[in-house]
Amino acid sequence: MSVNNHTYLLRQIPAVDEVFKDPAIADLTSSTPRPLVLKAIRDSISQLRKELAAGRLLIQQEQQARDFLMSIIVKNSVYRAHSQKRSNLRRVLNATGVVLHTNLGRSVLGESARQAIINAASGYSNLELDLATGKRGSRYAPVEQLLTQLTGAEAALVVNNNAAAVLLALSTLARGQEVIVSRGQLVEIGGSFRIPEVMAQSGARLVEVGATNKTYVTDYQKAITSQTALLLQVHTSNYRIIGFTRETSTAELVGLGRITQLPVMCDLGSGSLVDLSGRGLPAEPTVQQVVKDGADVVTFSGDKLLGGPQAGIIVGKKEYLDRMKKNPLTRAVRIDKFTVSALEATLREYIDPQTLWQHIPTLDMLTADNNLLRQKAQTLSEELNATAGAEAFFTPVQTPSAVGGGALPTADLPSWAVEVAPRNMTVDELAGILRESEPAVIGRLQDEKLLLDMRAILPGEESALVQVLSGVLKEGAPS
Ligand SMILES: *Cc1c(COP(=O)(O)O)cnc(C)c1O
Repeated sequence: MSVNNHTYLLRQIPAVDEVFKDPAIADLTSSTPRPLVLKAIRDSISQLRKELAAGRLLIQQEQQARDFLMSIIVKNSVYRAHSQKRSNLRRVLNATGVVLHTNLGRSVLGESARQAIINAASGYSNLELDLATGKRGSRYAPVEQLLTQLTGAEAALVVNNNAAAVLLALSTLARGQEVIVSRGQLVEIGGSFRIPEVMAQSGARLVEVGATNKTYVTDYQKAITSQTALLLQVHTSNYRIIGFTRETSTAELVGLGRITQLPVMCDLGSGSLVDLSGRGLPAEPTVQQVVKDGADVVTFSGDKLLGGPQAGIIVGKKEYLDRMKKNPLTRAVRIDKFTVSALEATLREYIDPQTLWQHIPTLDMLTADNNLLRQKAQTLSEELNATAGAEAFFTPVQTPSAVGGGALPTADLPSWAVEVAPRNMTVDELAGILRESEPAVIGRLQDEKLLLDMRAILPGEESALVQVLSGVLKEGAPS
């Protein structure tokens, strides 16, 4: 009888009960729910059957076949059970240099917002109860007052995200009617948010005017009919048209809106409440400025430049906001108590411009001092060379980083990174293993090197970065 006789080998596979008696499995069962271990064993056995049937497993000595198969099953079961226990949504060290990375969850919340979420989650709250009267209150009240105070608008409303904010505004103000937009502003934001498609979904009809590079206020004027309900301006978040260009300003559009008695809506996208131009970033119209220019409705995201939780913020004239609040769609896209609490805490930080820049991580990282980033890259390179210098070369290098989140696309932020050149594996292999580590590490690949940009590495994350990196380089795949 041949050693690799499949029928014989298949009969040597231990039964589930026997596998449970193995010391390593018994050990595993003390810290892992039994159904999870059982599934891991069954899956391991079925995988082993397939390997044997396909002749992929060769066994040298027949007498040891049983022990050998048992050891494979045990090892594989332990590995499976451990990966099953890990959360699917995992902590990531963001070494991409992109501060507002949509795939990595955009804004990191400040301390006060994190605390507010824990409070809201740990007990009951007056989410929809007016404590002064004992009557039913509005879940928007805690943020509405702050938003009107900070932006100068008459009224405010918050929904799930800015895409929902735009949809709600269009559906309320222009359903069955026409909305005029410049051809240069028919943007697509990542994750399939396209102005023409959102427009179609809202039931409003899109009327495009002007050319891609130039749109004058007269272009809007000529397109106005008895069917027109709204003049819409969209921030071209993730691209810039440069060269021979002309955009109609918010103030010009508002002027036309006043004469023709049409509301003007501005989808700002990122919508910053502070002027970033004084801190090395390109000038962007702030929400306050657009409100001051007379826009009737302004929409922006909570988790882009604002640095708060995912949310779509709508501010503007009370008459339009009141109509939106009555739209049944508002109920469908309403925010939960975690968003209310985190947004309130984030907005409160904006009351004090002195501490704001340190308290909002997004703003802190976007305006990080270049010397500090260099120092971070140098210190980390030294530490890595000390712990894993035999496995890779680590060098501090200068590199440009980006804002991300479809904000400030032309801003090139000078940053510093640790360049990693592994000796015993390819950079692709290294990047792959780092993605599967805990915490995961996501860097940037460039010229056969892995760049770990320091800009979006949070205070205190450096030691975890050293630990994961040296562990991976020394042992290969994570356990
Ligand atoms: C980002 C963006 C959106 C979508 O906002 P979300 O909060 O991601 O839903 C809509 N419009 C513009 C102009 C944007 O930049």
